[in-house]
Amino acid sequence: MTKDKSRRKFLRDALGGVSAVALGAQLYSSVPAQNKVSRSHGTVRSAEPSIRFAIHGGAGTILRNQMSAAREKEYRDALTQALMIGYGILKKGGPGLDAVEATIRFMEDSPLFNAGKGAVFTSAGTNELDSSIMDGKTLKAGAVAGLKHIKNPISLARLVMEKSKHVMMVSDGAEAFAKEQGVELVPASYFYTEDRWKALQREKAAEEEKNKAPKEKKPLKAHASLPEHEYGTVGAVALDQGGNIAAGTSTGGISNKKWGRVGDSPIIGAGTYANNRTCGVSATGDGEYFIRSVVAHDLSALLEYKGLSLKEAADVVIEKVDKLGGKGGLITIDKDGHLAMSFSTSGMYRGHVGADGQPIIEIYKD
Ligand code: ASP
Repeated sequence: MTKDKSRRKFLRDALGGVSAVALGAQLYSSVPAQNKVSRSHGTVRSAEPSIRFAIHGGAGTILRNQMSAAREKEYRDALTQALMIGYGILKKGGPGLDAVEATIRFMEDSPLFNAGKGAVFTSAGTNELDSSIMDGKTLKAGAVAGLKHIKNPISLARLVMEKSKHVMMVSDGAEAFAKEQGVELVPASYFYTEDRWKALQREKAAEEEKNKAPKEKKPLKAHASLPEHEYGTVGAVALDQGGNIAAGTSTGGISNKKWGRVGDSPIIGAGTYANNRTCGVSATGDGEYFIRSVVAHDLSALLEYKGLSLKEAADVVIEKVDKLGGKGGLITIDKDGHLAMSFSTSGMYRGHVGADGQPIIEIYKD
């Protein structure tokens, strides 16, 4: 079989493996042929770069029948652009950390995602941003939380990792460090978007209604529904040509959050994890449940200590979150180039680059 034909056959086999798993989560598992050669035999390297790159733009109630064609196109275009920024860096031999940071910066600058510019509002009407990044080679990590004036939190997380002896900085302290590092600060008004502001008003109205004494409550209309969880957290995982894994996540948290609430996204081991011996993970969903389940490290530990496949491990951790009552999803890539995307919600904005170098963008469960 010619190389081209065998790659096409591999693609058919790999993509034919798309299957629905427990909880309605959807999961993919594929490995580029070139990775199989270069990594399973250790010293043999194929001429082609053995790189992998995947992103997500949040999991939640994302239904085909509630999405206009124009809106869907906007998401698909933004996801494709984001994906190809990081992939382009990896293809040229750049580090996974650069790919993750550059892609997430692009998503933070887009109002479509709940990160950076498009961050959701707190109950006080402010925006508080969280982010983290991890280097699988050194196990170094950087995290920031409760930021109010940082345009690109992922870059500040990376500076915490590379230019300080700490792992996590929050709020005013993190912003003071940012100033010292010459990072771009923006006025709080930069993060205002009408969609997110309206979402906050809906959340508040629903909360008020919920807290009313039973006799004061308005009867629920048949079609009435509570506001949806404001999805849109972003994340990326990369395996670069040097075999190094990097992962990063960035978010505005959850709409109407209170009292300095911080979710899983900036928590190393919960929302983000990377380890060259196992895998890289970026999660999205009900942060409290992802913290309690220590999702990202748990997935890595299932590979390291229990020898599960990436697909099995991704499935197990999402199931654990589900059993506690939380919903969400994750993207993960292992050291051999396998890729898995698992989620328990009706949709997750997600993308990866196929073995043929083409972007594959998906939104819904099926
Ligand atoms: N996990 C994020 C948080 O809890 C939110 C999300 O992923 O949608 O802050």
